[in-house]
Amino acid sequence: MTHDATQLPTTILGYPRIGPRRELKKALEALWAGRATQEETEAAAVELRARTRRRLNALGLRAHDASIPSAASYYDQVLDAAVAVGAVPPRFADVVGQDGRVDLVGYSTIARGRGEDAPLEMTKWFDTNYHYLVPEIGPDTQFRFADDRAVREFREALEDGFLTRPVLVGPVTFLLLSKPADGSPEGFSPLQRLADLVPVYAQILRALAEAGATWVQLDEPGLVSDTLTAADAKAIHAAVQETYAALTAVEGRPALLVAAPYGDLGEFLPTLAATDVEALALDLVKGAVPSAPVAGLETKAVLGGVIDGHNIWRTDLVQALGKLEALRPLAASVAAGTSTSLLHVPHDVEDEPNLPAQLKGWLAFADQKVAEVVTLAAALEDPATAADALEASARARRERLEAPGVVRPEVRERLAGLTPADARRSDYDVRRAAQDAVLALPPLPTTTIGSFPQTGEIRRARAAWAKGELSDADYVAAMRAEIDRVVALQEELGLDVLVHGEPERNDMVQYFAELLDGFAVTQNGWVQSYGSRCVRPPILWGDVTRPAPMTVEWATYAASRSAKPVKGMLTGPVTILAWSFVRDDQPLGDTARQVALALRDEIADLEAAGIGVVQVDEPALRELLPLKAVDQKAYLDWSVESFRLATAGAADATQIHTHLCYSEFGEVIGAIDGLDADVTSIEAARSRMEVVPQIAQAGFSRGIGPGVYDIHSPRVPSAEEIEELLNIAVGSISPRHLWVNPDCGLKTRGYAETEASLRNLLAATRAVRGSL
Ligand code: GLN
Ligand code: ZN
Repeated sequence: MTHDATQLPTTILGYPRIGPRRELKKALEALWAGRATQEETEAAAVELRARTRRRLNALGLRAHDASIPSAASYYDQVLDAAVAVGAVPPRFADVVGQDGRVDLVGYSTIARGRGEDAPLEMTKWFDTNYHYLVPEIGPDTQFRFADDRAVREFREALEDGFLTRPVLVGPVTFLLLSKPADGSPEGFSPLQRLADLVPVYAQILRALAEAGATWVQLDEPGLVSDTLTAADAKAIHAAVQETYAALTAVEGRPALLVAAPYGDLGEFLPTLAATDVEALALDLVKGAVPSAPVAGLETKAVLGGVIDGHNIWRTDLVQALGKLEALRPLAASVAAGTSTSLLHVPHDVEDEPNLPAQLKGWLAFADQKVAEVVTLAAALEDPATAADALEASARARRERLEAPGVVRPEVRERLAGLTPADARRSDYDVRRAAQDAVLALPPLPTTTIGSFPQTGEIRRARAAWAKGELSDADYVAAMRAEIDRVVALQEELGLDVLVHGEPERNDMVQYFAELLDGFAVTQNGWVQSYGSRCVRPPILWGDVTRPAPMTVEWATYAASRSAKPVKGMLTGPVTILAWSFVRDDQPLGDTARQVALALRDEIADLEAAGIGVVQVDEPALRELLPLKAVDQKAYLDWSVESFRLATAGAADATQIHTHLCYSEFGEVIGAIDGLDADVTSIEAARSRMEVVPQIAQAGFSRGIGPGVYDIHSPRVPSAEEIEELLNIAVGSISPRHLWVNPDCGLKTRGYAETEASLRNLLAATRAVRGSL
């Protein structure tokens, strides 16, 4: 330790990396498309990092005390850690240079794959919409301090006049998030390699110290989940002790801040507190201030994560300060901070010219949250100086609760009048008979998930209409022309239940957010989803109502073009919530029920217009599942109930479909059954029908369509291959229940491969039908 570290700087755990105008996304995609050189892309990123430092400095983080985090990434922080410690899978060994460095092209190759070499798998980052790349660790992975980007970027900032705080994924979390490399022996877990990994982190700390770093942040969110078995927990306690005993023993090292975002540390807090690290960052939004002294904490600086890094609402700073005050007696010193990195929120509310002024006053994006942290830091020093700001924040919260549109009496009354019967349909057998009578579908009915390829032409028409450059009539004509094409294609291919193709939808959530009251959409509110992919979540701020039908015209137009049934297409309440920033002034379940009622009305209108099949997509059902086992039941109860509320107004003869986009069914299989949809389509082709035995075992006894065509790549599956998958399905699922469909929507595909693939899907279906 080279300096006094009993006091943490005022700080945030991380900041958006993609740039206010998605500069990094554009620079990366230019590189991938061959429109930019590595040097040009690096230069754009260097400039963005410099701008970010200046911005954070202007917002009140200091330039010289490690207050500004060095937490940029070209794609993903977990991939950064993998590359830093030399954990590059053998199939990509050639992208690592002599000096251990991985250049941007090589780094992109690991992230995105090449030819037969699959990229690292991608999966959800804790309870966020961010996705990280999963390192592959085997018994033979050779850890070494390979890529020194963290050191170089620290130096780059220093040369620019900023002493920053490098941020790395901590060693325990790194291994917990990794998966065993292919060919690892039975029973191997990456955590078993800890003793080989920690010395590499020690080396990185030494190198950072030599470069002048005074503080380093190690993120250990892997410690906040309690879904671990007792045996796992024991191994993790030991891992934490071993890791931080070794890292704190490194001579001349920087001070260490171990951050535990995304939840409460629970039983791991005492373990971390007993180590010799200088500081801990606790999530006091999801987690709580410890109710009693924790041995060891009294010698540490603690960053109280009281500003929510996850949502976009202005903080009640009076309440936040209260938490920090409660923490004070338990720690050597307390600093104000964010609960998580600000990676999950857009940059700046002031960059939203179209949001209503009143709504803006309630919001805090990343820049506003930095300012909140700075205000709280001042209040911790001297409450009097910040009194006005504190009071203003509390007032904004109160005003929001009383503002028009936040509470709509008619919505509240309707919700209050609901009874359990409103969420219940007739028995499946009764519905099935009614549906069979009107739909008269063949065995193994074929359908698609909804969207058809979104051609450049469609995107351009939508954009031109949004800008006012295309008249309503021309826009409708363009969409109808596309619907004609999609319906004609499906007829020609011989599909049984048709779709309109969703050409009018920019995004399956934003489309509905724009049409429902209670939502606002942003112009620049981009948030990184993974790599260069960004989303712009709508803001659900008030009670939800549906001023007019949302999908009926498109669905009925499509239906008028065919004698076959056409599915109405809606996005379910859970997915709408999951992919929006949702109000925090009432339970999520209440908000979900409001959305459900709007969808229920939409379904009634679709039925009245003659649509007999309606699909309500819930691809995010599993995504919102809480990390903590204790919270899961309540979540599953309200999420299932809201889906049922949305759909249970449908007549027996109306066939309700749902679609879910993942194949790991395990923890939610009961919930999926509970949705009580007549037909459920799920992703399955990518995992070669792994989920089919699970479905059979769970006794799922309604329509089910395990996907037989992986839509994630342009590859055209052969009819034989699809037939094979279908035969696996027929082996465990009764033909009475089996549907045939792709894994997901086709909007990211091109027409050529879509047509060829669907043709094969139908040929395979005919072959299997013949053998029944
Ligand atoms: N109906 C949507 C589509 O086909 C479903 C998308 C999804 O599952 N993510 O595009
Ligand atoms: Zn899907």
